[in-house]
Order: sequence, then C-alpha cells, then structure tokens
Amino acid sequence: MNEYIEIKGARIHNLKNIDLRIPRGRLTVITGVSGSGKSSLAFDTLYEEGKRRYLMFSGTQFMVDAAPTFDQITGLAPTVAVEQRIIRQSNPRSTVGTRTKIGNMLAVLFATYGRRDPSYDDGLPLSMDMFQRNSPKGMCVKCLGNGNLYSIDEDKIFSDGKTQLKDLLVERLLYRGGARKRLDEFCAYHGLTVAQPLHTLSDEQLLALKYGDRGKTSFQGVIPWLLNGFKCGEISGRQNGILSEAYGKKERCTKCEGTGLGEHAMHTTIAGKTITTLENMYIKDLNDFLTKEKSGLPGMTLINEMILKLDCMVDVGLHHLSLSRPVPTLSGGEIQRLFLASFIIAQMDSIIFIFDEPTIGLHEIEKANLIQIIQNLVHRGNTVIAVEHDENFMRAADYIIDLGPDAGFYGGQRIFQGSFDDFMTCELSRTAPYLADQRKLPVKTTYSKINPAKMLTIENACLHNLRNLKVQIPLGVMVGIAGVSGSGKSSLISGTLVPKLKELLTIADEDEETVFLSDARVSGIEYIKKCFVIDQKPIGRSRTSCPATYTGIFDRIRNMFASTSDSIERGYGAGLFSLNSEGGCRQCKGDRVIRYHVGFGNYIEQNCDACGGTGFIDEAMEITIEGKNIRQILEMSVSEAIAFFGNEESAAYDKNICHILLTLERVGLGYIKLGQQTPTISGGESQRIKLAKELGKQSGKDRLYILDEPTTGLSFSDSEKLIKLMLELTGHGNSIIVTEHDPVVLSNCDYIIELGPGGGSDGGFIIATGTPEQLKRNEKSIIGRYLR
Ligand code: ADP
Ligand code: ADP
Ligand code: ZN
Ligand code: ZN
Repeated sequence: MNEYIEIKGARIHNLKNIDLRIPRGRLTVITGVSGSGKSSLAFDTLYEEGKRRYLMFSGTQFMVDAAPTFDQITGLAPTVAVEQRIIRQSNPRSTVGTRTKIGNMLAVLFATYGRRDPSYDDGLPLSMDMFQRNSPKGMCVKCLGNGNLYSIDEDKIFSDGKTQLKDLLVERLLYRGGARKRLDEFCAYHGLTVAQPLHTLSDEQLLALKYGDRGKTSFQGVIPWLLNGFKCGEISGRQNGILSEAYGKKERCTKCEGTGLGEHAMHTTIAGKTITTLENMYIKDLNDFLTKEKSGLPGMTLINEMILKLDCMVDVGLHHLSLSRPVPTLSGGEIQRLFLASFIIAQMDSIIFIFDEPTIGLHEIEKANLIQIIQNLVHRGNTVIAVEHDENFMRAADYIIDLGPDAGFYGGQRIFQGSFDDFMTCELSRTAPYLADQRKLPVKTTYSKINPAKMLTIENACLHNLRNLKVQIPLGVMVGIAGVSGSGKSSLISGTLVPKLKELLTIADEDEETVFLSDARVSGIEYIKKCFVIDQKPIGRSRTSCPATYTGIFDRIRNMFASTSDSIERGYGAGLFSLNSEGGCRQCKGDRVIRYHVGFGNYIEQNCDACGGTGFIDEAMEITIEGKNIRQILEMSVSEAIAFFGNEESAAYDKNICHILLTLERVGLGYIKLGQQTPTISGGESQRIKLAKELGKQSGKDRLYILDEPTTGLSFSDSEKLIKLMLELTGHGNSIIVTEHDPVVLSNCDYIIELGPGGGSDGGFIIATGTPEQLKRNEKSIIGRYLR
C-alpha cells in the first residue's frame, strides 16, 4: 500500500500545475486565503477523481471526455466528501432520525418490545412500519402522516381592505410567472390596477376576484387558484409552507394529536413513553433516558447499539437536536457533523474523508471534542483531509498543506507541505505568521460607549428553547451574540428578531422568506433607519445567478452591450445578453451544461454542445465591447474587471460598476469571477457578496447590519480585513449584531450577549452580558475564558 496520495500536475481552476503529496492514515489540513484553491484541490480534484473511480468500479459505463485537470493521482482510496454544497442535495424529507437510522431502530424496538394499551389492542402483531409515519400502515388516516390539517382561511385573505390586489398573492410571492399574467389580465379586463386596495372594489368585482369571473379572463379566482395550486404543483413546496402560514388555517390533527402516527403507535409505550415522545426529546435527554431505563427493559442489545450511536452524536456536538428534526432546518455545520456521526457509526475504515471547515458553528469547548473524534477516525485507519482555518485544528494535524500565496490568479501554488512546526517558519504563507505570533489579529482595547437611551429591546422571546427572554441590544456599536451550539443564538436573532424587524421595517432583502409572527415584542426600532440581514444563504436560486446579477452590475453591463452601434444596427435589446431571457441557449437554458443521472443519486455534467458551454446564443456572443464579448466579461475576476471597467479612456468605463467591484475587492473577493454560478459559491462567500452589495450603496448612518458567523471560510488575513470593515461601519454610526464563535471577532465587539449555559434543554438563558473585558472576569461566562 502506498504511504502517500500523490498528485501530479493539478491544474483545475487556478491551480498552477502543482505536485503534492498527502500522507495516508493521517490528518492533513489544507490552509490558504479564501480563493487560493483549497476547494479546487480537495473537492474538485481529489473527491471528483475518487468518485469517478468509484463509478468506474461499480460498472457505471459513463465516461465524459473532459480535459484532464491533473496528470496523475496515485494512492487514492474510496473517498467521501463531507461538504455543505455536496450534502445539501440530500432528501428534503429526511430527519435526524432517518439519516442516522436511529429512527428505524426505535421502530423495531417498539414493534418488538412495546407495551400495548389493552383497550387498543386489536390482536394484530405489531410491525416496524406501524411506527413510521411515512408508511401506509403507520400513518394517521386523517392527516396522512402530516400531523397538521390545512384549509384556506378566506377571512384572513380578504378582511383587510387596505390590502392591494398584488399583495393578495402573499406579499407578491405568487405575483409572478403565469399567475402574474393571469391576474394582470383580470385587472385589465375589469378596469382595475394591481396596486388598488381591496376596499375600492365593487361587490361584484370582489366576488369575481374571490371565485373567478366565469371564464371572462384566464384568472380563476384567488380561492380556487390557491386550492388548485396546491394540487397541481403550481405552488412549490416552499411557497406551500408560506401560504399555509399566511392564509391557511393550519390545525393540529386531533386524531393523532399532531404526531402523524396511527392508533398502534399512539398506544404503545416503552418505559411509559410513546415513540413520538422519544423522537421529540433532545438527543442528550434521549441518551440519558435510555441509559437509565435500559436495565429494566428487554431488547438490551438494540438499546446498547442505539446508545452507542447517540453517544457519538453527543460527541460531535449534536446533543441539542432531536430525532424528529428535519435535516433541511439544520445549519451547515450541524449537517456536516450529522454526516460525520453517521460515518463514525458505520465504522468504516481505509476511507479518505474530506471535510470543509468541520468546526464552523462550534464553540471553542466543542471544537476540542471534534478534533478528538476526527483523530479517532484517523487512528482507525482512515485518511482525513480538512480545509480549515482554526488554529487548534491545524496544531492537531499531522500534516499541513498551504496554498496561495493569494487568491485566484495570484494563488493556486503550493506554498508549503509538511509538519505544523516547520509550517510556522514558512515565510511565503499568509497564515504562518499568525501562527508564529509574528502577526496578530486586532483586539479592541477601548470600547465604544454604550448609550442606555438607544437600545433595541426584545421581550417575550420564547422560540424553540428560549426561556421567555428579555434582551437589550445597544445600538451604534458592535454587539456579539455568543454561546455553545444549540444555546439559542439563531433562535433569538434569525428566528425572533429578524422576522420582527421584517414586520416593522422594510428590510432590504430580496428573499421572500416566511414572515413568522411570534409573540415576541421588539422596541427601539425608531433608532434604526434601515436594516440589512447578511446571511450565508445562496445569492440566488437558479444556476444563472452569479455575483454580477446579484450585485446589479449585470444590468448595467447588458445595457452597455445593447447600446453598442452593432446592437443598435441589428436591433438587439438588453434581453439578448441575458442567460435567462432571449440570450440563453435553447438547449441548456443558459446552464452551460447538461446533467446526466448516472445512478445512486450521482450526476455527471457535460458541456452543452449547442452553445459550446457559453450558455449564450451565437447572436449574443458576436457583440463585443473593447474586444470582449459577454461571456469573456463574465469570465473575468473582480480584479480583472476593475481594470477593464475602470479605465476612463475606454468605451467600457463605468463608474458605478467600478464602485461595486471595488467593494467586492475590499471584502476579499477580488478573485471571484463575475459570472461564477451560485452553486459553486460557498456560504461565506455569499455572505461577503451580500455585504459588498450593501456597502456599495451610498453610505449612511443609523443602519443595522445583522451578520451570522461572517468569518466562516476566512483565513486569518481575510478575517483581519473583514474585522476592519466592521469596525469602520460602526465607526460611522451604524450598528452591528453578529452571531459568532470566533474569539477574535468577539474580542472586537463593544458588547457581548452570551446565551447558554448548554444547548437545547440546557440552554435558552442569558448567562452573561458586557464588554469582552467584563466577560473575561465573569465566572458565569464560558466564552470569557477563551477571550483571555
Ligand atoms: P478556496 O477553497 O481556497 O477558497 P477555490 O478552490 O474555491 O478557493 O477557488 C480557487 C479559484 O478558482 C478562485 O479564483 C475561484 O474563483 C475559482 N473557482 C472556484 N470554483 C470554480 C468553478 N466552478 N469555475 C470556475 N472557477 C472556479
Ligand atoms: P444556536 O444558534 O445557538 O446554535 P439554535 O437557536 O439553532 O442555537 O437552537 C436552539 C435550540 O432550538 C436547539 O435545541 C435547536 O435544536 C432548536 N431548534 C433550532 N431550530 C429549530 C427548528 N427549525 N425546529 C425545531 N427546533 C429548532
Ligand atoms: Zn393525524
Ligand atoms: Zn447550451
């Protein structure tokens, strides 16, 4: 067996034909500034090749003749990638219980050893599927396993006379596409406008709006349309959820008491608890319960096996989840750790695991645990390769690979490979000087004064595990929200504060997410002029969205193309230069590739032959500005584009485009391509693109920026730039609320609110507040210890 995985001539994306070796059976960390080529190496080269060989091995006869992205790789073994972008594609209906198979084990346990309530015992032998709400035998016959019943609440839709017609369709959510055309037609026919409020309609018009105008127009009426929409799938799953929140009457099914399970499951218990009760317990509590009760229960082997799995989940920092929790509601870090747990449980060895920042979302104390677990994987004979920025993680590694020195074109070289100790003396690396303490991240020593009269107050915060909190957030300064994972940080900020602010202010946010109305009260918004929520959600839904479209510069570029003399002569409009309009290739719809399913949920992509992988039709490609066509411009990195659009002498000069590009460069994204497709943009990069977009607008004060772990994916030097930017923002009289674990970011806050003490049922309290300096001296504070 080879001692090393040897890679020769890696050259995908920005990699500069590099040779590398990675020791097998060891823990290797890949470091480098964001955009230096870490993912290109770890995921696009190693993982893709591992997958390709596996597909060949499994007899899948599907070969693509893409240009090779490396010369040779030897020493490869079966490869598993635990990366957010890859695992997000998993089944949306899966839960923590189904993913880990602990749900199945519970069902077997109940079917085999459950105690039945004699008055419901029909004599049928129990079977496993009677305890599964998605199986015909197990589901409640009334709600079909959903637990809730939905109907449309007419009053809720039409009672407010001030509602405008277009907003009837749920805050414009559904006022688009076919529905929009039909409503517009309806309005035109009946002499209405979409901005008209309901109370101005005649009874007759209102009736037609509600139930349709008997075929005079193609609009079928709001009520039939909503009802049919659910059935015909014109309303997507996501919209469906929003609709039922906004307009529907969502009632808990009384037959199954919201459990979604049938009679058998409802009336069978183990140690006095039903399967639903156990599924809803926090993992840690379930583990304690089974451990305590197991001596008195039959099925010891099965229970022990479950306890082993639950232990493992507690170890990876998932104690605060329940088995019933849907996987899509988990954060990126939680999903990664859930996958990690299932691999550990599967007891595989001789595997190559590739992780993408496994420590994100973890508190300092939890990180140590995770490092231990990953080292155990290695001791069992696996190879672990992780892209990481965490110092302790690097210290724990057997081997370090540093790529760089900088991003994009200026990166992609192998700067270092070897031990951590040798790495510290590596002079070319942007990371090593921080490790060797030659360069230090900024730490705030003088905090901005807090004005007690200018506070944002949240009262009655009860979402998930929050204990009816009253929280006072000082404005005009930088406030950190800290706490172990599951302590309630996101429940408080993204779950409670943000929806309230959305309700009270018009938030600059394109995302029409559910506005979930809670009982919480928020006051003090009169001190905020504007609020920006800058999270890690993708910057668009379709593959044709990219930094250029998201930041708005693409509109300007298209117009520039449309106003060239060639375009005017041929009668081309701006739409011809858009991928999802006339300009998009007819075959791939602007996607540039065609996807083929090759089995086992794996896809292979091939360049579209109709457009040669450009995504554009030929007419669009023929027009140029300063010798560059639209695709060539989209292929430019931000830094290249600054040179192109920034030259005052050239026909491409555009001050506005430049301004936005320069802010992208300031947040460390000079390497990103204008047309880089959304799926290849990481959560951290998305967040920084959003930040740049907001910063690119005219500056001001009294704005509130809400950020969620902004240093995710950032090396020390990139973090330093970002922190400077945040300090600049608050310096100009704006407020920042930042959910963070990183002690460096927290020590640059003026005020910290720490939740805890634990996660899930052990959390939900405020355990400490004050300046970083005060928290260091506060014994109740956990993060305080790490700020020292
Ligand atoms: P890191 O993981 O170190 O942040 P990446 O490997 O993601 O860096 O990116 C390295 C370079 O390759 C960057 O310039 C990035 O813009 C580019 N890149 C990444 N993914 C793609 C892609 N799918 N297509 C084209 N360029 C890409
Ligand atoms: P943090 O952000 O501090 O990691 P969260 O606010 O995400 O903590 O979680 C607090 C508690 O609420 C946890 O026990 C978590 O499992 C639970 N929780 C969070 N989101 C949801 C959700 N969408 N559905 C059910 N429970 C949730
Ligand atoms: Zn039911
Ligand atoms: Zn095409």
